[in-house]
Amino acid sequence: MIFRRLRERQRGLQSDSSLFRPLLFFAPLRLCERFLQFCQPAQPALRLLVLAVVALPGCGGGDRAAEPAGEPLPVVQTKTGSEMVLVPAGTFTMGSDSGRPDEAPAHEVQVDAFLIDRTEVTQEQYGKLVLANPSHFKGADRPVEQVSWALAALYCNLRSRDEGLEPCYNEETEDTARCNFQANGYRLPTEAEWEYACRAGSRTDWSFGSEARRLTDHAWCAENAGKKTQPVARKEPNAWGLYDVHGNVAEWCNDVYDPAYYAASKGKNPAGPADGEKYVLRGGAWNSRPEGCRSATRLGEDPGFQDACFARDAIGFRCVRREPTPAGPVIGPPPEHLAVGPAVPAVGGSGGTSGGWGKAKRCPSADGLGLRSAQPPATRPPATPPPYAARPDTPGVVLMADPSAILTAAMLGAAEKQQARKTGLVYGEVYLGHQTGRSHPERPERLTAIVRRLEQSGLMARLTRLDPQPADPQWLLAVHSAEHVEKIRRGCERGAGFVDSMDTPVSRQSCEAALAAAGGVLAAVDAVVAGKLENAFCAIRPPGHHATRSRAMGFCLLNNVAIAARYAQKKHKLPRILIVDWDVHHGNGTQAIFDDDPSVMYFSVHQHPFYPGTGTAVERGTGKAAGTKINVPLPAGSGDAEYLAAFEKKLVPAALEFRPDLVLVSAGFDAHSGDLLGQMEVTTGGYAELTRIVRRIAGQCCRGRLVSVLEGGYDLELLAESVEAHVRVLIE
Ligand SMILES: [Zn+2]
Repeated sequence: MIFRRLRERQRGLQSDSSLFRPLLFFAPLRLCERFLQFCQPAQPALRLLVLAVVALPGCGGGDRAAEPAGEPLPVVQTKTGSEMVLVPAGTFTMGSDSGRPDEAPAHEVQVDAFLIDRTEVTQEQYGKLVLANPSHFKGADRPVEQVSWALAALYCNLRSRDEGLEPCYNEETEDTARCNFQANGYRLPTEAEWEYACRAGSRTDWSFGSEARRLTDHAWCAENAGKKTQPVARKEPNAWGLYDVHGNVAEWCNDVYDPAYYAASKGKNPAGPADGEKYVLRGGAWNSRPEGCRSATRLGEDPGFQDACFARDAIGFRCVRREPTPAGPVIGPPPEHLAVGPAVPAVGGSGGTSGGWGKAKRCPSADGLGLRSAQPPATRPPATPPPYAARPDTPGVVLMADPSAILTAAMLGAAEKQQARKTGLVYGEVYLGHQTGRSHPERPERLTAIVRRLEQSGLMARLTRLDPQPADPQWLLAVHSAEHVEKIRRGCERGAGFVDSMDTPVSRQSCEAALAAAGGVLAAVDAVVAGKLENAFCAIRPPGHHATRSRAMGFCLLNNVAIAARYAQKKHKLPRILIVDWDVHHGNGTQAIFDDDPSVMYFSVHQHPFYPGTGTAVERGTGKAAGTKINVPLPAGSGDAEYLAAFEKKLVPAALEFRPDLVLVSAGFDAHSGDLLGQMEVTTGGYAELTRIVRRIAGQCCRGRLVSVLEGGYDLELLAESVEAHVRVLIE
């Protein structure tokens, strides 16, 4: 689903800057504050999972004899600098007959040769290819976490493309990214590959033997991690040179999870069941007990994290790829000349592995891989700081294997409910970081004026504040192209300049603000859909309704409302979304994104002709979506009467027939009689009336679920006044 590519129709869109530059228009803004991550009390299934982890049988005992060590394997460096271990083909005993039921029966499995990352994918590696660093515990050399399975798969594809390899995952697939194992690009390991690489020739509970007390030499877990992730490769690797396989973050595998799979799995290159709700996680995490860090431990987790928000910061991944061909660097055990440095100690033997590493040797090879000996991973230079403010390391999140923390979450949930007010406000200072230049009408002061007004009027105390977090990139990609998102990131990295056109200037913090703008709206959707709030207003910026799938315009970088609509559909399974857009400008981006989609009704009343040139009454949607796009172009000088008539005569009947499951409002206030850009005559009282109408629709169709998102409005005083009137009606 995250790969879904929305076809965009931008027919007739007059986006040349020549048309609109002389008119100053700007799009919406929104503020939000940090949106609380509404971690709901763990779902029963998840709780069971958690408790199961806690209740895993102790394995400090269970002693089988320590096994001979595997040999250190060759390490290759990929084109872009990642270090991977070349694991030879082989046979091993997968699973355990003395562990949990889903680990049995232990069975022989044959695996082809493959390359596997020496460490979990770090935030630095991830940040080079993907816009946002979703991690909770920030640090360039820490593993990336809070990554859904789908995002991990997307990263694999991006990394493949970056190195000129064929991506393994089908990005066109609607719901599941199927893996092409024949492709030479990166993918997630199969569960069999993961366990084979983790065991590194051992048959004991952990790759280093069966003594749990030694785990802290090899892994970051509940005993030693300090309740957070740690930089990768700081503990002893396993016999094949892989780091953190027994703990730091749990790692996504490619396979669907089925607890009974081992009873029927095939003996050669098993790749998991065809279908299922959960995907496999392997390896321990910073919050795992030793039992949860064993080589055979399996977990199944929702691949998209739906409902699993409390364990996300314990989940990451590492990549594999097919053994390179032809005449790859080396196949099988490393040639003698490469086995330099002290051997990795025998399992169960004494002595550490650190120190005395041999010199690196690189061999030119096919596939752009350089071969080198088993050295510790290169020390990485300090990464450029992630574009988003690091959050403190004080997790408000619950640990995966800590029942007391789950209780705390449940208690917090109850307390939250008690305090809940019916209307939410999204705002955060992060939005002020989007600097557009002195004379630009879409400026940070718009939001501070709104907040001041809400405080002075006493409304603020009646609102439930939601703090924005950056939107998970998968939701951006449900609407925008990866190129577009990357373009914004690069634009911000440069520090100043424009993205796509002269009216969308960006500063260094614009990217962070844009992600938090979308994320703030998603937070509001979560709260409203969960019933914690009835409705919410998102005071965010930059605004969004002009942004198309692949283009920033009209002060808009990301289409916040469109992203929220897709999010509500995919995450919350709400089929029909109504978007009401009363900004003085036509929301060309929103209309184009959903032009052929009958599941989203878009209604816009706007000044016409005016920027951006679209929004005539004949634009009604295409194909099956015909009739779901309703445009009411009004001449300059129109006011409350014309707006209210359009709402009552056109919007209300269509909306009641459509019966939306959620109402989103693109709430621009630039049709106000005193606005700097628009030439309309809507009054503050008019906005209150429009708000009453959309509330009535939401009340009749979807239990009042309404999320209003700031778009335009450029006279500070009138904007603040209009928002106050709007919010007052939302609270009523
Ligand atoms: Zn506008």
